[in-house]
Amino acid sequence: MKSINHIRKELEDISGAIIDIDIPPNEVPTGAEDEVVSLWNKEMLGENTNDLSQVTEKEQSPPDRILDPIFEYGAENNPDQLVKNLGKDETEKIRKSIEVKGIDALAWYVSYHYRGLQWGIYIPISSLVFLAYNVFGSLPCNGLTKIKLAFRALHQHELFHFSTDYMTSQIELITRKPCHVISRPKLKNNGGYIAWEEQLANAAMLQSILYAPGTLKVPNAYKQLLVAIVKQQPAGYRDGPKVVKTKPFIKLAEKLAQDFIAYIPDYELIHADNWELWPLYGRYERLHWENCPVHIIHDEKRFGIAPWFVDYFGSVAINQETDEFKKRLLELGKHVPKLWKKACRFLASVGPSYPGLGFEKWRSRPDGTVYSVRLNDDIRVHVLYDKSSMWTALKVGHHKEMGHG
Ligand SMILES: [Zn+2]
Repeated sequence: MKSINHIRKELEDISGAIIDIDIPPNEVPTGAEDEVVSLWNKEMLGENTNDLSQVTEKEQSPPDRILDPIFEYGAENNPDQLVKNLGKDETEKIRKSIEVKGIDALAWYVSYHYRGLQWGIYIPISSLVFLAYNVFGSLPCNGLTKIKLAFRALHQHELFHFSTDYMTSQIELITRKPCHVISRPKLKNNGGYIAWEEQLANAAMLQSILYAPGTLKVPNAYKQLLVAIVKQQPAGYRDGPKVVKTKPFIKLAEKLAQDFIAYIPDYELIHADNWELWPLYGRYERLHWENCPVHIIHDEKRFGIAPWFVDYFGSVAINQETDEFKKRLLELGKHVPKLWKKACRFLASVGPSYPGLGFEKWRSRPDGTVYSVRLNDDIRVHVLYDKSSMWTALKVGHHKEMGHG
């Protein structure tokens, strides 16, 4: 997948491809007091995120990096309290808006075809609470897993809108004509959305739960999402289940692309009949999500929810180790430095969301945040992420001496 930064620069040369806009279409209003924090923004990180090829040993092929953020939520991580906090009226209001606006009432995507806006996927904390406890509430898993499922579902729906954005920009780069801003308004139905696009986005969301990795594989999660959310949504949205399988999904995506092409000025001159359209979506690349920024809307205050901590690191490269750490590492036995070396390699390549690492927030300090890493059943490491974006291994030891229960 090409860099969106580069694509955007080139689109500026195509007259009418990118437009100025103040308010993105369909955006759910956020409160003025809501703080928006970028959870993931490759553009801010630069282009050099570590790739998986760095894992050299025969530890099978490493799993794909997924966007699996670290959450720490208020009320001592007590899920029951969270539901109470969101309140019956607010919950009912959210439920009603989903019936009208589909999933995009809970999260939304802002296109990079608009100037003057921070593009990317927006996910409010209140939506995570709503989905986790009103849709995934009865699932046989803990509260944190429910929140992660909620995040995954919303992220994957909105990510399809990013894919469509990418598809239209590929068409623009090939034809040198505007497509996104011209075709979009014409393809929208009376409800103000493109039915096939929403159908595909909901199908992508369902796929992501059906084929969820590791700890996010929870029995009945798919069924709950289908019955409690997808079926309650407007036409198009609720037809997602029809194209969950790969073949019909790709077929419909190609039809959607044809629709977008049909409204390009001087369409007949383009001769797009035999184009291969599916590759234009960029979804053949498993890590395509890394190219799309994700922003968390901290609307806790407005909904009476205690403040949340949400963070994500694509990869963690340990920059330094304290003397105390180095000394203790050797004392713990010959195998421990080896385990640490292996953990470092996984932190840098697959990233800290690799389940075996048990990467979690330990505590905040004035100079940064301390995270805990699991080396085996017994040994834990504490690493500090400081204000200058440096990672320091602080301490290592048996889980009891490290303060883990
Ligand atoms: Zn949508």
